[in-house]
Amino acid sequence: MDLELTEVQTRVRETAKKIAEAEIAPRARDADRGALFPRDQIRALAKEGFLAMLVPERFGGTDLGSVNYSLAMSEIAYACASTAVTMAVTNMVCDAICAWGNDAQKEKYVPRLASAELLAGSFALSEPGAGSDAAALMATAVRDGDRYRLDGSKCWITSGDVAGVILVMAKTDPAAGSRGISTFLVEPSMPGFSVGRHEEKMGLRGSSTVTINLDDVSVPVENRLGEEGVGFKVAMRALDGGRIGIGSQALGIGRAALEAATKYVQADEALAKKQSIQWKLADTATELDAARLLVLRAATMKDAQIPFGKEASMAKVFATEAANRATHAALEICGEAALSDALPIERNLRDVRVTTIYEGTSEIQRFVIARNLLAEA
Ligand SMILES: Cc1cc2nc3c(=O)[nH]c(=O)nc-3n(C[C@H](O)[C@H](O)[C@H](O)COP(=O)(O)OP(=O)(O)OC[C@H]3O[C@@H](n4cnc5c(N)ncnc54)[C@H](O)[C@@H]3O)c2cc1C
Repeated sequence: MDLELTEVQTRVRETAKKIAEAEIAPRARDADRGALFPRDQIRALAKEGFLAMLVPERFGGTDLGSVNYSLAMSEIAYACASTAVTMAVTNMVCDAICAWGNDAQKEKYVPRLASAELLAGSFALSEPGAGSDAAALMATAVRDGDRYRLDGSKCWITSGDVAGVILVMAKTDPAAGSRGISTFLVEPSMPGFSVGRHEEKMGLRGSSTVTINLDDVSVPVENRLGEEGVGFKVAMRALDGGRIGIGSQALGIGRAALEAATKYVQADEALAKKQSIQWKLADTATELDAARLLVLRAATMKDAQIPFGKEASMAKVFATEAANRATHAALEICGEAALSDALPIERNLRDVRVTTIYEGTSEIQRFVIARNLLAEA
């Protein structure tokens, strides 16, 4: 077991850190306060190939794999969690298109997502009545000659209003449960596609989260991703990989809060001598380090093409809960200073909250872990 980063991994992390410091961190506060979508920051990520890190170079990707992706994601999230989640979903969409799509689909969409010509990719699974129980989704896709007609509504869709392509899961065979779901590559210019409510969120305010309405959207058959009926698998596999991204995002946010608190304590001799403060710092650093190892293990397994679903869920539940505790501890350590935006901690605390909810709640991660344990026993 080698816990040292390779030369390439060190370079990727340093590059991400450099962009984060130069292009992303200086705009993070305004993106949060003004709920401003980080367009320029996304374009800066595209220049370094960070929007398509998991896909082959011939489709415009950098093919750097999950460990490098995790390292980059943490650095970006350290600076701005809103930029990081936008980056995470675009990477997940590129990965899914390359895993399930044909060459024509990969050539049409992935290079343009990688370069930010299509500003973002979006993943539309959730519906008002289908969050954790995604198989209960009600959107339908009815075949009509060489097209499908899509109807329904998707909610809480990250980048749904800015995306150039949206992966939409809909039922092609409503009687077949999760086996009746298919995935479609939907473009916002397709007639019948519209964006509804924009969510006013407590955190990740720079990222855009919207409702999408599908009103008899006419989608060509060639835009179906994979066979009819594999849509649930497409979604679940994407989320397995996505959980490594969200675990990494949480790590970056948690580390930002811890470092801000540590610097604050270091500057106050009396505070630095208090055992209760030292213990909070020590526990937080230890938990975040343990989380980092879990996330990197899941990423290493994905890169080695070893089944990694259980490990991705372990990494996600532990990292996101540890990062939530880290931001709370940081706020308690710094007291009133952390309640103003003089420190990043109040933003970190608001941003990290959702990480235990999206891409599968903590309860769902525990369910996945237990199901795997029972199957392995
Ligand atoms: C900021 C943000 C961005 C998002 N982006 C996207 C996106 O891009 N694409 C997308 O498709 N979705 C997105 N979502 C939706 C997100 O994936 C869902 O919110 C999440 O899956 C949980 O679903 P829910 O909110 O409907 O909660 P519910 O499923 O209604 O769950 C409510 C509570 O019940 C618990 N629960 C539910 N079922 C079980 C069970 N079987 N066992 C134990 N406990 C259970 C849950 O853990 C939770 O605590 C986003 C959400 C947010 C907040």
